[in-house]
Amino acid sequence: MDAECKRTIVGRFLKIRPQIEKIRVRFAENFSLKGSVKIGVFDNYNIFMYFTNDEDCKEIGFKRVIEIEGLQMWLQKWTPDFKPEEDIPIVPVWALLPQLTFNMHTCHYVKQIPEEIGTPLEMNLATRGRTRPSMAKVRIELDLHKPLSTSVYVGSEDEDYPLKVFVQEVEYERIPKYCKQCKKLGHDLSNCRVMERKRLAEKQEIERVKYLMQVTENPNTHVVNGESTEKEVTTAKEAKIQEKGEDAGTTNAV
Ligand SMILES: [Zn+2]
Repeated sequence: MDAECKRTIVGRFLKIRPQIEKIRVRFAENFSLKGSVKIGVFDNYNIFMYFTNDEDCKEIGFKRVIEIEGLQMWLQKWTPDFKPEEDIPIVPVWALLPQLTFNMHTCHYVKQIPEEIGTPLEMNLATRGRTRPSMAKVRIELDLHKPLSTSVYVGSEDEDYPLKVFVQEVEYERIPKYCKQCKKLGHDLSNCRVMERKRLAEKQEIERVKYLMQVTENPNTHVVNGESTEKEVTTAKEAKIQEKGEDAGTTNAV
């Protein structure tokens, strides 16, 4: 992948995006860059941003979501798998390592500890400057498809290994929601409209099948709101006989 593609971020609006000129102006007003950026339209929802500077690309990408003209724009690194209607489930997230022994507040350990959970990206300023001895903080690339680990094993049981094995707790800051159904960031299965509609349609289908089964088993069964009530059904033939009888009765009486 060439350098320009590596420094490309896709901005996706949840609603139809503002005019591209407005996006360019607001972006320049809100963010100061070391290099420059070219902002181009992909479609009515997506824009591409090509950065000339690696640091700018990282800094903006790590924000994950920014607001332009009052609308949320979700940011993700461009990859060859880009599909305009889907978000990739890999996002940068701060991982916290509370009570990590102070001698381990080094780039070597802080980046190595969460390796199993996600790709380590960078330590935060306080961890780099060793000004927050109670915990270390490292940014990692988290795959939201995988179950979240809240602890990791560190060290080794091997006697020759200098670091004895221990369990390190891991906490996270603001993990974004990801919907596996829609393949989009910003909501999850518990508040997915598509899933809600699907569940409703399934419920209606079950009710329909139940109704059909009851009617087939007992044609005289009348089903109201899923509950069946026996109902006298007079067939056309029975009705005719009844009618005749009544007529006869009337005749006899005269
Ligand atoms: Zn959804």
